[in-house]
Amino acid sequence: MTLDIVCNFRKCRKALTSQAWVTTCSHAFCVDHGKREFKRHIDNSLICPACNSELRDKFDVIQADLKPSETFKSIVLAGLKPDTIMDVAMRAISFWSYQIEQETLYQESLANHSKEKLQCLEEINTLNAQKLKAELDTAKRKIASLQEEFKKKKKQSDELTALLEEKTRKIQKLAFQLDAHKRRDIHGQNVSKNDNAAQCMDISELVGQRAASDAFVFKPMRDNEDSRQIFSPKTPIFDFRAKRKPSFQFRPLKS
Ligand SMILES: [Zn+2]
Ligand SMILES: [Zn+2]
Repeated sequence: MTLDIVCNFRKCRKALTSQAWVTTCSHAFCVDHGKREFKRHIDNSLICPACNSELRDKFDVIQADLKPSETFKSIVLAGLKPDTIMDVAMRAISFWSYQIEQETLYQESLANHSKEKLQCLEEINTLNAQKLKAELDTAKRKIASLQEEFKKKKKQSDELTALLEEKTRKIQKLAFQLDAHKRRDIHGQNVSKNDNAAQCMDISELVGQRAASDAFVFKPMRDNEDSRQIFSPKTPIFDFRAKRKPSFQFRPLKS
């Protein structure tokens, strides 16, 4: 696995693969940030944006080719003594190790931050879970209570329905009885009307016969008298007794 160093500029962290600005304080920057930060001023005073080290010498910061050609590799250390070559190589390795160590620290910092955030989220999650569990338990108890109440109400409803059906049956029975009574009463009234009509007819005929023969006294019915006694066959309908002073005398016209 090949590790790439990244731009040390704050919040940049661009992977450096081909070109990079490197410093003697062991920091590296991308081309954009290198050009911007290491533009030489008149006094040649440069400041490393990562560690604020002063970079006075012209070789304190250079633009390096991270993918050197084979020719460059062959010539860059050519002619140097082995101890110098080893010294250069050791310094280059030290630069690399520092970058890897910084990257490791950064990743560990990120990991610790993420871990703390995760712990915080887990605590919040635990609290939320406890709260939800409490709400769920409350809801379950409420549901159980409502189910119990629903059973009671349903039982009452069934009882009331049964009572209503019984009352309805009684009302229907009473309605039939009332209807039967009405029919009987109507039939009785019709029979009574027919009897009265027959009696009226008899009385008219009788009055006509009496009027044709003699004068008679009309005796109105007293309040305490019963019509059945008056119209009974034993009692005369009209009183023709002359000795009793008539209060009203009917005289038919003679032709
Ligand atoms: Zn950068
Ligand atoms: Zn630096």
